[in-house]
Amino acid sequence: MAFSRRVAQWQRAEGRHTLPWQNTHDPYRIWLSEIMLQQTQVATVIPYYERFLAQFPTVADLAVADEEAVMALWAGLGYYTRARNLHACARRIMSDWGGRFPPTAAEIETLPGIGRSTAAAIAAFAYGERSPILDGNVKRVFARHFGIEGDPSKRAVEQRMWAIAQAEVPPEGPEAADEMRRYTQGLMDLGATLCTRGDPDCGQCPVRDTCVALREARQHELPTPRVRKAVPERHTRMLVIEKAGEVLLQRRPSPGIWGGLWSLPEFDDGDALAACRVLGVAPAETVRLPTFSHTFTHFRLHVEPWHVQAGPVALKDGAGNPPQIWMPTAEVEGAALPAPVKKLLQGLFRRGGLL
Ligand code: SF4
Repeated sequence: MAFSRRVAQWQRAEGRHTLPWQNTHDPYRIWLSEIMLQQTQVATVIPYYERFLAQFPTVADLAVADEEAVMALWAGLGYYTRARNLHACARRIMSDWGGRFPPTAAEIETLPGIGRSTAAAIAAFAYGERSPILDGNVKRVFARHFGIEGDPSKRAVEQRMWAIAQAEVPPEGPEAADEMRRYTQGLMDLGATLCTRGDPDCGQCPVRDTCVALREARQHELPTPRVRKAVPERHTRMLVIEKAGEVLLQRRPSPGIWGGLWSLPEFDDGDALAACRVLGVAPAETVRLPTFSHTFTHFRLHVEPWHVQAGPVALKDGAGNPPQIWMPTAEVEGAALPAPVKKLLQGLFRRGGLL
């Protein structure tokens, strides 16, 4: 029996059927879930997905939304470029496509922030289009099942996988659309639940009879691991400037890390007193807080936070300075702040009784 048939049949019988973005052909909902699921676990995504849809039930609602409202609903999910692209994408759909999602994977791929595999997943689930996906989980399944050597992030290996992905889609026919949806979901389910990174459950796998890795006992060698380079380290210092139950925040420049989110003022050189004076804040008291680290995809950031009780303040607004606000500490919880910054503030305010 064909690879795709076995995967689709297994999905009908054993796959996941109750995720909130399943059982719909609405491309908006499917698109939203696919973007949220990039780099993020299902269990983390579900509450974000539900809150986002409650606030923006259609692409038109999202297109007219304020960027800050979008970022606030995304805060904590990480990889904020996804949220900015989502917003830009909604606007493009309204302006260029009359509010309807593009009708093919190739056209969906022209939208901001949508790659080939994501476009294919949306087209497969929404329209039943026979366009193959190839995300990280599928690469793992393919590397093992078809015995593909080499780092899947390398272009030549990836191209080989795309060729296999294309060759393995279900054949044309009256049932092709439903079969394609099941097969696509089945590949995702297989990678997430059976053919997992550390401990594949080959005994339950629908394609075990033809799996090269299982036959050669090479499940732990495939896919070929990426040769990891040392992660660059960066350092910064942050100011938690507090005055009368409010904390000073600055809007991060976009593009850039945490672009568009409110965050704490930062400084690289000199001491906290000098950094406060640059902002127009006369500190009454400064306390150095424990350093913490946050890992991004391409580097690790070490943050040295300083807690400042502000005396007289004359903020220097204007050209060259980022937008600034004083946020009541009680509003930190629901604000669009980067997750590690929010965690720092929550811990500090709880400990210090400021909230
Ligand atoms: S048999 Fe095992 S290694 Fe092969 S695809 Fe299935 S779960 Fe993965």
